[in-house]
Amino acid sequence: ELLWLLNWASQYYQYPIGEVVQQALPTLLRQGRPARVKGIELWRLTASGQSLQPSDISRAPRQAALLSLLQQHPAGLTSPELNQRQERWRPVMARLLEKNWVEMTEQQLASNHTQLPSEKPELNQDQLLAVQQILNHLDSYHAFLLDGVTGSGKTEVYLRVIDSVLAAKQQALILVPEIGLTPQLLSRFQRRFPTVSIAVLHSGLNDQERLQAWLSASKGNAGIIIGTRSALLTPLARPGIIIVDEEHDLSFKQQEGFRYSARDLAIVRAQHLQVPVILGSATPALESLANCERERFTRLHLPERAGAATPPEFKLIDVRGQKLDNGLSAQLLAQMQTHLAAGGQVLLFINRRGFAPVMMCHDCGWHSRCERCDAHMTIHQQARRLRCHHCGSERPLPAHCPGCNSENLIQVGYGTERVEQVLKLHFPATPILRIDRDTTRRKGAMQAMLDQIKQGESQILVGTQMLAKGHHFPNLTLVGLLDADYGLFSADFRAAERLGQLVLQVAGRAGRAERQGEVLIQTHHPESPLLQSLLSHDYGRFAQALLSERQAANLPPYSHLALLRAEAVDAQAPYRFLEEAHALVSQMGSNGIEMYGPFPAPMQRRAGRNRAQMLLQASSRAPLQTLLSTWLQ
Ligand code: ADP
Ligand code: ZN
Ligand code: ZN
Repeated sequence: ELLWLLNWASQYYQYPIGEVVQQALPTLLRQGRPARVKGIELWRLTASGQSLQPSDISRAPRQAALLSLLQQHPAGLTSPELNQRQERWRPVMARLLEKNWVEMTEQQLASNHTQLPSEKPELNQDQLLAVQQILNHLDSYHAFLLDGVTGSGKTEVYLRVIDSVLAAKQQALILVPEIGLTPQLLSRFQRRFPTVSIAVLHSGLNDQERLQAWLSASKGNAGIIIGTRSALLTPLARPGIIIVDEEHDLSFKQQEGFRYSARDLAIVRAQHLQVPVILGSATPALESLANCERERFTRLHLPERAGAATPPEFKLIDVRGQKLDNGLSAQLLAQMQTHLAAGGQVLLFINRRGFAPVMMCHDCGWHSRCERCDAHMTIHQQARRLRCHHCGSERPLPAHCPGCNSENLIQVGYGTERVEQVLKLHFPATPILRIDRDTTRRKGAMQAMLDQIKQGESQILVGTQMLAKGHHFPNLTLVGLLDADYGLFSADFRAAERLGQLVLQVAGRAGRAERQGEVLIQTHHPESPLLQSLLSHDYGRFAQALLSERQAANLPPYSHLALLRAEAVDAQAPYRFLEEAHALVSQMGSNGIEMYGPFPAPMQRRAGRNRAQMLLQASSRAPLQTLLSTWLQ
C-alpha cells in the first residue's frame, strides 16, 4: 500500500521513484541496518554492584553518583528515566558495565499503565454533529473539512473519533505542523489514551528513535502515530483514519528535493486505503474550501469557541501620515500600556527577524547588498553581523562605510531585534521575550520560552510567524500586527490568503481563557475590503472574496499550474534551456495548456546563481500530467 502511494507520488510530482522511496525510509534502513524492534533498556545493579559503597570509588565521582542513584532504585532505571536524572550518563554507565557492577536488559514495551484516562468534556451540539458524521463513515473513504475557529474544540473531536478507531483495533495517523508538535498536544493525547502506545515522528529524533517509531507503526504496536509532514509516509499495520491538523499550514509542503504536499497525499492515501480523512483548520486553505463547494469534501463547522472563551475584538490602526517609532504607532503603544497595567500579556507580530533589513551610508548611499543575491543583508546587532537570509552569507558589521569610509552608517527599517530594543525603552519594567529563529535555535529554547509564557506573568512577546501556530496562551489579551500591508501587494498570488490566515491564527492566541482579547492591525490601507472582512472574524467571507478573485483570474484551484525553473552561474544559460524546453512543447502539441515565459524568477540572483522560470497552466490536470511526464524525458 505504501509503495503504491510512493509510486503515485513519484508520477504526480514528477520525481524519480528511487529517491521518493529513499525519503520514505528511515536512515538506518537505507544504510542496510536491521529492522529490529528495540526494547527499552533497563539498568540494574548486579550483586557486586549492590555490595559496593560509593565511597569505595570516591576517586571516580561521576561513577559514584550513578552508583548511588541506582542503589536508590533497586528495581532499576530505564534509559529515558536516566536521561531525566543525569546528564551524559552513558559513558559512565559503560564503565560500570565493564566492571560488572551493572547489567542491562531490554524490556518489551508493555502497556501496563494503571492510570485512568483524563476526563472528557461533554460535547456541544456542533461537536456532537461532527463526531457523529465522521463515525458514520469509519470504514470507507470520506474526506471531511473540520472548519472551526481556534479553540472551538477541533482537537476534542479528533480525540472522540480516535476513541472509536482504537476500539475497532485500528490505528490513527495524525499530522501536525512542524512547530505545532508541542509537548502539550502530545501530553493531551497521552492523558486521554494512557494505555495506548503513541509513536511520535518529527525532525528532532535521532536515527534510532525514528526507526523505532517507524517500526512500531508498521508492526502495529503503536495505536496512534503523531508526526510532521514526512510521517505521512509511514507504513501502517491497521490503518483506521488520517487526520491533518492545521491543514492550511505551509509546513505540510516540502519545498525542496522531492516536493510534495502531505495534505494532498493524505487524501490520496486515505482514498486508496478506504479510510476517512479529516482536515482541520480555523483558516482552511482555499483549495479545501473549493473542494467542499465541489462536494468532494464534507464541511463540518464549529462556529463557536468551546468553554468560556470569547472571541477577540479586531481593530485597524490607520498609520497613514503618523509618526511611527520603529514601526510602533502611538495608539498601539497606548493600548499595550493599558493591557500590561491590567496584568495581561501582549504579543507583537513582525514578519522580519534581525535588527534592521538594510544598512545604508548617509554620505555616499552605499547599502548592504548581498554579493550573491538580489537582496539586502540584514543587520544582526547582537551577533554584530550582516546576514543574508536568502543564501546564508554573512560578514562582520562594518564600523565604517565600505564605500567612502564614513562612520555615518544608518539602519533602515526594523526587525524583531530592533523592536525588542525600542520596547525596552518604552516599558523598562516589563519583561520582554523575543521569539524568532535566532532566539530558538538552541534545543529546548522554544519550550523554555513557552513555559515562561504559560506562567502568565504580565509581559511582552515579540515574534515572527513561529508564534502563530497552535499554542494556547491563556493570559494573552492583546495582539498587535505591526505591518499587514505586505500581504496585500505581493508577487505571490497566495500572499493575501496567507495574510488572512496569519491574522486570524495570531489573533487566535488571544483571549483563550475568560479574558476578552483585542487585536490591533497597523496598515496604510484600512479601506481594503480584504482587511475589512477580517475584522468581522469572518474567514469564510474573506475566503469567498479571494476565491472569486482566483476564479476571475483563472488561478488555482480553478486551474492547475506547473513551474519549470532553471538556474546557472552563467546568466544566459537558464534562458537558453527554457527556450529549448518551450520549443519542445510546441513540437509535442499542448492542447489546452498555456505557456508563459521564460521570465526572470522573483529573485533573479540567489546564492550566486541566475534563475529563470516558465509557467504552464491547464484547466484540467490530466493533459498537464501527460505533457509533463513526456516533456521531462
Ligand atoms: P481547537 O483544537 O479547536 O483549538 P480544543 O479542542 O483544543 O480546540 O479546545 C479548546 C479548549 O476548550 C480546550 O481547553 C478543551 O479542553 C476545551 N473544550 C473542548 N471542547 C469542550 C467542550 N465541549 N466543553 C468544554 N470544554 C471544551
Ligand atoms: Zn559611504
Ligand atoms: Zn545572499
